[in-house]
Amino acid sequence: MYCPFCAATDTKVIDSRLVADGHQVRRRRECLVCHERYTTFESAELVMPRIIKRDGSREPFNEDKMLSGLTRALEKRPVSTEQIELAINKLKSQMRATGEREITSEMLGDLIMAQLKELDKVAYLRFASVYLSFEDVSEFADEIARLGKEKNGRGRQARQVKQTKTVKATK
Ligand SMILES: [Zn+2]
Repeated sequence: MYCPFCAATDTKVIDSRLVADGHQVRRRRECLVCHERYTTFESAELVMPRIIKRDGSREPFNEDKMLSGLTRALEKRPVSTEQIELAINKLKSQMRATGEREITSEMLGDLIMAQLKELDKVAYLRFASVYLSFEDVSEFADEIARLGKEKNGRGRQARQVKQTKTVKATK
């Protein structure tokens, strides 16, 4: 890139190191013309496929939704935060490995279920029983997020909502 101060094309790297847990390279550069120093960050651009919902609409992949869904399913289970993070990284790799620009929410739900099955059987069953009663996984994640919020204020009602959904699944 050009020097941001004088637009010269010649700059040299005077320091380079890994940051953000090795996911980024921080480079200290010096302009050979004006000798100003500045920092650049380099990271891989990893584009996640968008999600095709069952009604045909599309939405961007939302990692926070996935995390809250998994955390909810794994509540009070002997699974560490690190394991959950690893599972999410695996899921994201699997999504990217499809090479598709868009994948169905059904496919995403299947990937999540396979991952949970490996991680914790109880969480897998929890997720499966709730997930299967929803139109698609993004709705499930919305519901999970809502339940999480209600639980803090009105725990009893949140449990009742969950109960209703579970009953619906067994029909
Ligand atoms: Zn310069």
